[in-house]
Amino acid sequence: MAENTKIEWADHTWNPWIGCTKVGSPCDNCYAEALMDTRYGRVVWGNDGDRVRTSDSTWAQLRKWNRLAGEAGKPAFVFSLSLGDIWDNRVPMSWRREAFMRAAECPNLVMLYLSKRIGNAIGMAMECGGFPPNAALGATFGDQRDYDRDARKLRDAGESLGALFTFGSFEPLLGPVIVDDDAPDWIIVGGESGRNARPMNLDWARSLRDQAGERGRVFNFKQVGGRGADKGGHDLDGQTYFNRPALPQQDKPNG
Ligand code: SF4
Repeated sequence: MAENTKIEWADHTWNPWIGCTKVGSPCDNCYAEALMDTRYGRVVWGNDGDRVRTSDSTWAQLRKWNRLAGEAGKPAFVFSLSLGDIWDNRVPMSWRREAFMRAAECPNLVMLYLSKRIGNAIGMAMECGGFPPNAALGATFGDQRDYDRDARKLRDAGESLGALFTFGSFEPLLGPVIVDDDAPDWIIVGGESGRNARPMNLDWARSLRDQAGERGRVFNFKQVGGRGADKGGHDLDGQTYFNRPALPQQDKPNG
């Protein structure tokens, strides 16, 4: 299990800042708001709320993980951000630029930038002087409406910014989704978890698994979801799918 994350598709989670605004139905039960606003009172959520930069020690985590990945001879996947959104327009551009610079200094890390604001990606990355070369670009798709609105934007932004690959987080999956040629390279599916979890029909997950196979995409099944501590488990039809995309760097990490 990863050092600081329980997310099955990443080895670490990195939050250079905390704070966000809800932008759609996948945000309804935002875990980050429940934790950082309601529970700990560290930030006020929302457009008029706070964006708080995290400590120097948190920013220094990337270099440490980069060193450890180099020693292990295996790239580490870093999910960024879980307590905010990389393309949030309320975040100072200078923070984003600095976060990208830190990331680019860490070639043994694969940065996974997951967002619900993928339409901002190209413009903001350009303002930052570009996208890190060791980064993948992701978008959240809760249902068909999200997919139809954002899948093409994700693919275009991934190509334009030279992302290692694109990925789609179909979590919380709130309805069936039919993908097309714009489907992301890596399809990650999960049901919602927590006290107010909205149920996922397993047939929606099965369908995405089969579509991923037909289209040559990598499929990852994160969890069934639900209110239980085990988040419904990680099996789909008796099988785990903790698959990750192959990387050229996997053969030659830098020490
Ligand atoms: S984008 Fe993510 S962090 Fe921001 S409100 Fe939505 S679920 Fe929460």
